[in-house]
Amino acid sequence: MIRIGQGFDVHKFEEGRPLIIGGVTIPHDKGLVGHSDADVLLHTITDAALGAIGEGDIGRHFPDTDDAYKDADSAVLLEEIWKIVEARGYKLGNIDCTIMTERPKMAPHIGAIQEKVASLLKADVSQVNVKATTTEKLGFTGREEGMAAMAVILLQKN
Ligand code: MG
Repeated sequence: MIRIGQGFDVHKFEEGRPLIIGGVTIPHDKGLVGHSDADVLLHTITDAALGAIGEGDIGRHFPDTDDAYKDADSAVLLEEIWKIVEARGYKLGNIDCTIMTERPKMAPHIGAIQEKVASLLKADVSQVNVKATTTEKLGFTGREEGMAAMAVILLQKN
């Protein structure tokens, strides 16, 4: 048995914040803002996983009105959700993600991000694909106001 899920997320840039993408801290002149650490890629992956098991979205499980999740490590939140995925008897088939940003250049960091995501999803790095694109200077990502990410995940029953 297989299940598919998709995710999408956006966060705004602000100066004086660290930039954490896929659990990896990336040197940049600004970072993303949110109630948690604003890791746009891990939020997207978490939502894709929740979608695949029919469990709603990240906001339902970790409300941004709850101070417990202020500046929360999104890797820990994803690990919590992955426990539910495993409890339902599923493991990762594969995941494919796209990060949208004008800057910074993501290529030097993709390998480290894929390794981190694979470890969070208890999978081999060959099951995880992360890519990045600019939006040709168009829209909020093009104006460097924020970043967006999308993911599609396939789960397989053990
Ligand atoms: Mg988010």
